[in-house]
Amino acid sequence: MPLKASVTRNGAVLLGKYVACDGFDETRPLRIVTHAHADHLTGLRRSLKDCRIVIMTPATKGLIDVLKGPSYLTAGNVKTLEYGTTLVYKDERISLHYVDHILGSAQVLVKDADGTRILYTSDFRLPRTPIIEADVLVMEATYGNPYRARPFKKRVESTLVSLVEECLIRGPVYLFGYHGKLQEVMQILHHAEVDVPFIVPERVFHVSKVCERHGMQFGDSLLLSNEEKARSMLQHGDPCVAFYHMNSRRRVGQKAFRIVVSGWEFSSPCKQVGEKEFRVALSDHSDFDGLLGYVERCKPRMVVTDNHRHGDAEALAREIRSRLGILAKSLPASK
Ligand SMILES: [Zn+2]
Repeated sequence: MPLKASVTRNGAVLLGKYVACDGFDETRPLRIVTHAHADHLTGLRRSLKDCRIVIMTPATKGLIDVLKGPSYLTAGNVKTLEYGTTLVYKDERISLHYVDHILGSAQVLVKDADGTRILYTSDFRLPRTPIIEADVLVMEATYGNPYRARPFKKRVESTLVSLVEECLIRGPVYLFGYHGKLQEVMQILHHAEVDVPFIVPERVFHVSKVCERHGMQFGDSLLLSNEEKARSMLQHGDPCVAFYHMNSRRRVGQKAFRIVVSGWEFSSPCKQVGEKEFRVALSDHSDFDGLLGYVERCKPRMVVTDNHRHGDAEALAREIRSRLGILAKSLPASK
């Protein structure tokens, strides 16, 4: 019997007969974009040109309009789908479901004509991601190796808030992370009543505005980094937090307090990595225990781990087989 799900060498996650997620596949009329991270937008230009429908949540569309420009998605037939609503395509039923990762992220469920439930988690973290039961499961494997565990994960947010507060006493703080994660930190600080201006470059500003339109809260303290007030605060060492994309970390804030938020930290919630630089283990992915926990409660007959994107898909498949006794394989096969 052919597999009802797989991952191609182009990074397309194939579900059922018609759907390709997060990569282009010429045999599939439907392309689903599970979220706006770059490694899930692979082949999107081609999908817009060749697929009958390109599907995503309204929030993901808002983020792509900012990150790629407002005309990018007009090249194709884009349909936005809310969480929990079903699109029927021929003899299959397709729905998107909430996943805790970045704004707009979705897991994808396809029910085929035989009643088989085929699920792709995309990137996710527990405990806020609802677990869906399925027969065939495709899952991410970023932290698929058993030693990628963060037993301290419940303490990360409070550690981050305390660190920012301590640094602010002595001056501005620069915070570096990826789109989505930066806005998560803004919301954490806002809820913890860290009421200082948040200074952001233009692109981070526009991403943040999309997040606000979809319900995230940062207070009303966003200042564009090229505004006179922002420049003067940074120059005079006034307390404020400047949020920059990870790629800018060698370019700005060299002399200030610097915090990098990254999931690639397993030794402690916070590690000092330079005289005034810290790494905080805030991740938007599940650690190894979370990945295994999802499989256990999803109760699939078979699991495919994503061996195209960064991670450890082979180790995860091996651990699923040996610890849970469930058929599992990593795809595409390693060369
Ligand atoms: Zn992602």
